[in-house]
Amino acid sequence: MVLYLVVPCYNEEEVLFETTKRLAEKLNSMIEKNMVDSKSRILYVDDGSRDKTWEIIEKLNTENPFVEGVKLAHNRGHQNALLSGLMTAKEKCDAAISLDADLQDDTDVIDKFVEEFNKGCDIVYGVRDSRESDTFFKKFTAESFYKIMKVLGVDVVFNHADYRLMSKRALEALSEYNEVNLFLRGIVPLIGFKTSNVYYERHERFAGESKYPLKKMIAFATDGITSFSVKPLKLISNLGIIISFLSVIALIYALVSFIIGVAVPGWTAIIASIWLLGGIQLFCLGVVGTYIGKIYSEVKARPRFLIETYLENNKE
Ligand code: UDP
Ligand code: MG
Repeated sequence: MVLYLVVPCYNEEEVLFETTKRLAEKLNSMIEKNMVDSKSRILYVDDGSRDKTWEIIEKLNTENPFVEGVKLAHNRGHQNALLSGLMTAKEKCDAAISLDADLQDDTDVIDKFVEEFNKGCDIVYGVRDSRESDTFFKKFTAESFYKIMKVLGVDVVFNHADYRLMSKRALEALSEYNEVNLFLRGIVPLIGFKTSNVYYERHERFAGESKYPLKKMIAFATDGITSFSVKPLKLISNLGIIISFLSVIALIYALVSFIIGVAVPGWTAIIASIWLLGGIQLFCLGVVGTYIGKIYSEVKARPRFLIETYLENNKE
């Protein structure tokens, strides 16, 4: 089988040489064991990097028979970069594995991915055994995220990031999903087919720093939730019903007080309720606005990435 390793890269000049060395060794050893075909490749996607990432990929492409590269015209974010790589690989591979440039995901389990593929699985999820290499904060936020997704009824694989194998057939199915707000972890389970999990330890980044600061992480999580669940909208309607009910009770109370003549000047209550309701309404409008924003971008159906160059590598 032809295996493609798809690696999105954003400002990864510090890691690319080492990553290539390790991935090429891996492919070589698998070719020797007859696990994969010699047409297997490493496909780097340069996600509009501002450093020397693309120059390095070009250099590696001429020097190393395994390396191919795709250059995106702009920085489109990890998910879009990954998709562009997978869609490019789809044409040439039997299966593709997506992994990060920093090799935080243990490359030793690539063999296991392929074994599962050979057993007939179309999608193999890499699942983290433990989160010992994470800070408390990262672990807490990440695990809460998976739990919230579950409560909201979104089918995601617990502790699985974007380290996964997908067969050609699964990639073709993925290409049918045309959404612009891309959250692959939510889409892939929707594809179905036969799946299985492979467990691994996640290491520290061996060089460079994270390209996912807190701001991007929050945006990613919000995207995941609002692209896959309409429960927040339902919660708001429920909140509206409860508040209307409470206000009826308050109204009856106010009328009764007025009729029996114990009504006090109600300035405080009025001001308080104006503020409270104003706040709730604004909040609700904000949530509705989020969805309208999404409808807006989906309706425009802009391309999610534009490949500038594709460096092929057909050396044997
Ligand atoms: N990445 C990307 N585009 C971006 C941000 C990140 O292609 O806009 C890539 C990055 O080069 C890396 C992967 O996504 O290969 C995961 O990023 P990183 O390792 O920085 O995230 P972390 O592991 O800290 O969550
Ligand atoms: Mg990383």
